Amino acid sequence: MAELPLIHRARVHADRICIRAGGTTFAYDELLSASARVASALLGDRRDLEERRVGFLVPPGFEHVAVQWGIWRAGGVAVPLAPSHPKRELRHTMRDAGASVVVVHPGYADAGQVLADGADGRLLPTPDALATEPGALPEVDETRRAMIVYTSGTTGNPKGVVTTHASLEAQVTSLITAWEWTADDRVLLALPLHHIHGIVNVLTCALWSGARCDILARFDAQVVWDRITSGALTLFMAVPTIYRKLIAAWDAASTDRQPAMSAACRGLRLMVSGSAALPVSVFERWRDITGHALLERYGMTEIGMGLSAPLHGERVPGSVGTPLPGVEARLVDGDGVAVTPGRPGEIEIRGPGVFLEYWGRPEETAGAFHDGWFRTGDIGVLDHGRYRIVGRQSVDIINTGGFNVSALEIEEVLRMHPAIDECAVVGVPDSDLGERVCAAVELRPGHRLTLEGLRVWAKQHLAVYKIPRELCPTVLPRNAMGKIMKRSISPMFGPGDDDGDVDS
Ligand code: AMP
Repeated sequence: MAELPLIHRARVHADRICIRAGGTTFAYDELLSASARVASALLGDRRDLEERRVGFLVPPGFEHVAVQWGIWRAGGVAVPLAPSHPKRELRHTMRDAGASVVVVHPGYADAGQVLADGADGRLLPTPDALATEPGALPEVDETRRAMIVYTSGTTGNPKGVVTTHASLEAQVTSLITAWEWTADDRVLLALPLHHIHGIVNVLTCALWSGARCDILARFDAQVVWDRITSGALTLFMAVPTIYRKLIAAWDAASTDRQPAMSAACRGLRLMVSGSAALPVSVFERWRDITGHALLERYGMTEIGMGLSAPLHGERVPGSVGTPLPGVEARLVDGDGVAVTPGRPGEIEIRGPGVFLEYWGRPEETAGAFHDGWFRTGDIGVLDHGRYRIVGRQSVDIINTGGFNVSALEIEEVLRMHPAIDECAVVGVPDSDLGERVCAAVELRPGHRLTLEGLRVWAKQHLAVYKIPRELCPTVLPRNAMGKIMKRSISPMFGPGDDDGDVDS
């Protein structure tokens, strides 16, 4: 194998546009040339980086991709660093990955210097890398490590998830088959590039297909609507929080503009949601506004995408569909025995897209597998042949007074309350109940809510033991992907009672 398939395929599409960013378009041959320069700069006198880890702090755009490909073409392991993360966390990522080089965009020069010093390593500014004369590049076998992505850490400490070129290829080709990507697709990337959703589902699927990726430096609802209404897109993929913001922007738009916004959405062939549970209310409202039934999929840094609603056929709100091509899924109980349909069990996944290891953590890697199946830690139910996500075992399954309840199910109900815009339900340790159900809520402007009022309302919709015993008004803490950080919610609730009388 002379060249990685991703690179080989780019040569086939050399004259086509691969990226549009900052108002400029770039062809595949420009990406090949820029990434060869970066690879040569990284190599210096070496023939092959031999899986040395390379951190890179470059905003989403053409240069980001040139650096990612440059690392791969030099035989290195790409460690994307999030510009939004504090320096302390970035330093931890560099150290944990054992990265000895960091490629940095001039806009992040200060942070880059701190990272290089902290890792006792080399700082390579992107302008220097891109100005290097390209030289000979090594052959890189697909079984080699390609990337370490740090898990978002919403429920535990971030761990470095290692994928090989072969597992990335399996993740990408599975989605390309299922969602029928072609070279004529044009997708908008409004997600960060230190997370699998942006890296795999959007960017690499597009570039593998010879398609065009329109990259925004950051998410902005107005800019996204402008790109949609420009008529330039065929695909859009985002997290539920982004769809909520797009709905809010649609609501705020003039009645003259709204029909054009809605009509433009109908020009897209597919709109996808994932990385967190899609509230039924968001699914329905988006369908009302745009005519699109969002395709919901379930995945994880460790497995790529595992389950997906169908491209053709009915998309049921609250369901994440069936296993993607090449993916095997099953549900097991605490003893690892398969559960019968209709009963909840831990989702286990097997297939060529599953990651290689947690970097430097052999015991955690071994503990994450069970007879060759990856234990996701997510609980699901098989309902009429389709999977439904009940929640993460560690935070979303609340054991209260002997009942196991799903935080996600309670959240779905609470979102129906007219005062509640968004919410997060957690189980807080309780000496009587084991755990008690508590709700942190974001209120709609101008609304007011008391715990008493919420409990009276909730009695019509929830079994008594599922009704929140505490209420906390707040701005919900979210990570860079817009996911609610549940670990930060529980400390909001003290040991005593709080009547939670609140105004927005
Ligand atoms: P990450 O590795 O950051 O992508 O996070 C993966 C986790 O996000 C999974 O283990 C699930 O807990 C959650 N997740 C991803 N997609 C969905 C979905 N469609 N519905 C519910 N949870 C999801």
